[in-house]
Amino acid sequence: MANDGPAILVVEDEPPIAELIAYTLRGNGWDVRVSGSTAEGWQALQESIPDLVLLDWMLPDQSGLRLLHRMRGDPHFRALPVIMLTARSMEEDKVAGLDNGADDYMTKPFSPRELVSRVRAQLRRRAPEHDEKLVSAGIVTLDPASHAVHVAGVRATMTHAEYKLLRYFITHPNRVLSRGDLLDRVWGSDVNVELRTVDVHVLRLRKALGAAEGYVRTVRGAGYLFSEQ
Ligand code: CA
Repeated sequence: MANDGPAILVVEDEPPIAELIAYTLRGNGWDVRVSGSTAEGWQALQESIPDLVLLDWMLPDQSGLRLLHRMRGDPHFRALPVIMLTARSMEEDKVAGLDNGADDYMTKPFSPRELVSRVRAQLRRRAPEHDEKLVSAGIVTLDPASHAVHVAGVRATMTHAEYKLLRYFITHPNRVLSRGDLLDRVWGSDVNVELRTVDVHVLRLRKALGAAEGYVRTVRGAGYLFSEQ
């Protein structure tokens, strides 16, 4: 039954798991729809845009990663929070999921309590840096509505992870941000990603920023600082 709470789309093919998730989330007053394949999930997204998607990795028609990729390539779903669900626990799979635009990652089996806290954290994180207003710093302009980044008027191409990192930097300028802060705020506090992953993404972001690469500064022993000066 529809209600006023946040709408969550669950793409999961195993009925007992889908039922447990739906029961738990509905118990929190959230509106839940369940799809059993990537095709059904894509169809559900066309019908109405949810506030968050819980996406299983192993689905009968295609990998959940494919649906994630398709979503991130579409301006309507690019900013939608996605939590990947999987039985896999390999670190490289987590990194692959996050690199492909997942906002968080949960390994099965998980408790209803963990599920609620992770969903809540993602819904909460849709704040100031999730504002839809155009943000700019020096020659860099970021448009949250279209996810377009321009450097001196020229469109810069970057992955979703680099975009999120830039969005956080640009909305929190002129302050030292530790790698831990960035992991916490950009990837989510309970995501098991190594600190050096942040360095890799900072390097890629600098490259993507071209003439503005100097805006992202390394503060030795402390982290990074974003400044247009
Ligand atoms: Ca599955």
